[in-house]
Amino acid sequence: MRRHRNVKIVATLGPASETYETIRALHEAGADVFRLNMSHGDHAGIREKHRIIREVERDLNSPIAILADLQGPKLRVGTFGNGPEELAQGATFRLDLDKAEGDGSRVCLPHPEIFAALQPGAHLLVNDGKIRLRVRECGADFAECEVVIGGVISDRKGVNVPDVELPLAALSEKDRKDLEFVCQLGVDWLALSFVQRPEDVTEARELANGRAAILSKIEKPSAVERFSGILAASDGIMVARGDLGVELPVQNVPPIQKRLVRACRAAAKPVIVATQMLESMIESPMPTRAEVSDVATAIYEGADAIMLSAESAAGSYPVEAVRTMDNVAREVEGDPTYTQIIEASRKAQRNTVADGIVAAAREIAETADIKVICCFTQSGTTALLTARERPRVPIMALTSLRGTARRLALSWGVNCVMTEELTRFKLAVVNAARAARAEGYAEALDQIVVTAGVPFNVPGTTNILRVAPCQESLIYSTDPG
Ligand code: PGA
Ligand code: MN
Repeated sequence: MRRHRNVKIVATLGPASETYETIRALHEAGADVFRLNMSHGDHAGIREKHRIIREVERDLNSPIAILADLQGPKLRVGTFGNGPEELAQGATFRLDLDKAEGDGSRVCLPHPEIFAALQPGAHLLVNDGKIRLRVRECGADFAECEVVIGGVISDRKGVNVPDVELPLAALSEKDRKDLEFVCQLGVDWLALSFVQRPEDVTEARELANGRAAILSKIEKPSAVERFSGILAASDGIMVARGDLGVELPVQNVPPIQKRLVRACRAAAKPVIVATQMLESMIESPMPTRAEVSDVATAIYEGADAIMLSAESAAGSYPVEAVRTMDNVAREVEGDPTYTQIIEASRKAQRNTVADGIVAAAREIAETADIKVICCFTQSGTTALLTARERPRVPIMALTSLRGTARRLALSWGVNCVMTEELTRFKLAVVNAARAARAEGYAEALDQIVVTAGVPFNVPGTTNILRVAPCQESLIYSTDPG
């Protein structure tokens, strides 16, 4: 499905968006990637959503990326015997390993590793940071805390421990089962929650074993500190502002977002800006001005993708939320200031032949009123490098690998078209010209830029650039070979 914007839209699926009709409407309205949240719902529900997405993909002949988001080592308290409890500021509250139901003075925190890592003075944040506890005294099986900020605590609320790098495995038992399940179903991206170190990413990559690309969610202070190693180990990044804004002071989130988005573009790896982008649209058909501005900011910064969470998973206006993002994106990208910002932040990268070719493709296309840059790609790398250039001219990626086409649905400006397996460059040019006309990028008298690596089936060999006419007879008569 041809989009009239470059930034991509990720929509999380949930109870508000689980039928064929809704998922199709979300894709038609602009959702390029669907996120399956493994923290909610059982495997049967995930399998069903996966089946419907692939059906929509087939019916609309449009590659769609599926991103399975693993829960990760999310800490939760146990349950309470008498329902929710109010914790008053200044009171004492105890966390321990006792499985008995909690009350106003204590509750179970079933993670012995945490007690081993805690120190007096460390903070524990409960329920999205609404309650703040400070450890007064702790041992192998308990932490006695002072309530610094009070509030209501209830069953299975999440706990964040920002001050400590937790000695937790990157993937829980549940994550390992979920990972195997979704890899067997066939997903394109795996998102890892609460990544703390580059080794966490490596571990997941080994388990995925090439079956899915790996996206690291940056939502821990330790992940921010070790970001360059994590980026190098990952295929993509999510600025997970929800937990990040709990683990760090909220005002730290915008500068981190800006820094991460730039670093990802320089590394030619897609980056998603996520969480609370259109939060009020969970209940209202209209966003707030501040939300529209937040979505616009992420686009001006050059993010590859913007994401909807509860807005599309559990809200009353999932399709309207996607449409809102699409409208904001088209407006921002039509603004000359956007082009200025994006071009001013382009970093010349000149290490390889491929770097030179993608830069030349952009330069030629922008200089000579060429309608589309067509890049043949098998691993996806040439398309990612072309996207890093953020050209003014549309990018059409041609590949014979469905997995590559789907994965690239997350990347800025990349429109993917499936093509047959090719061995001759001349035929590739003919195919590109045909696709450019069929997809409405160019007409017979237009010119296109084609890039490819020859031989075709060896990855990482981008070595050809041709300016070609779109008309087939002319392609043959102007062929240099
Ligand atoms: P979550 O991740 O929605 O899975 O918590 C995103 C975030 O924390 O922002
Ligand atoms: Mn999170």
